[in-house]
Amino acid sequence: MRACIDPGHGGGDTGALTADGRMEKDTNLRVALMVEQELRGSGIEVMLTRRDDRDISLSERCRMANRWRADVFVSLHADAAGGTSAKGHHAIHSIHSQPGKGGNKLARLLVDQVTLATGRQPFPRGDRGVWTRESQNHPGVDYYAVIRETDMSAVILERGFLTNPEDAALLFDDSFLQKQARGIARAIMIYFGVKIEEVAVGMFKDIAGHWAQGNIEHLAQIGIVRGREDGTFAPDAPITRAEAAVILDRAIAYILGEVQKMIRGAA
Ligand SMILES: [Zn+2]
Repeated sequence: MRACIDPGHGGGDTGALTADGRMEKDTNLRVALMVEQELRGSGIEVMLTRRDDRDISLSERCRMANRWRADVFVSLHADAAGGTSAKGHHAIHSIHSQPGKGGNKLARLLVDQVTLATGRQPFPRGDRGVWTRESQNHPGVDYYAVIRETDMSAVILERGFLTNPEDAALLFDDSFLQKQARGIARAIMIYFGVKIEEVAVGMFKDIAGHWAQGNIEHLAQIGIVRGREDGTFAPDAPITRAEAAVILDRAIAYILGEVQKMIRGAA
């Protein structure tokens, strides 16, 4: 189970811009690193096509995924439209993937799980936010390079419109990106048939007034602990050795991520 996560654009290629000049390449990388963290401990291997702000051609991104023999390729983007009204996430897969299989299955899961995780409705294009695009010059061939040149199930996930003020604010808000990342990771887990025993829940039903409520909410917000399927946290239930290992592993990854940010900020 190998997932190649591709943060769109980078380096001199900023991608789309918000009205106040914030860049698509930055929100793409931020959410990609969160997806990687979310998939820790799931048994799914993750490779990112970039981990920092650099130029990589579309063909090189595809070659990286092909060489590594990824099973899925998820290219993370944010959109721009002519006006400000278009909003919401949507996903593109190959014209060759069959309904309910491969890229189509992955695209459907990504759109639906992001909808569930964020509470935001998909952009109404194609089949409830899932669509394909064929090259006009080359009939029978996919228009988008990262879908055309990858050997595995590939999806471009457009996570919202930077030209819409509401979407633009959310796409640079870490707590929103964390929710999006959880939805994306969950979609990939479901695609691979990984059993999900814990689900991300913003607010747990059973911790109000608990002496550790603040700690639990903080750790849930940064992705270290999660709730149960039924929306509870069960604060006084005993922990297994496996659960402790997963929590510690996430905490170490989180701390290393923060340290890296500090080092980058100081450089
Ligand atoms: Zn893009």
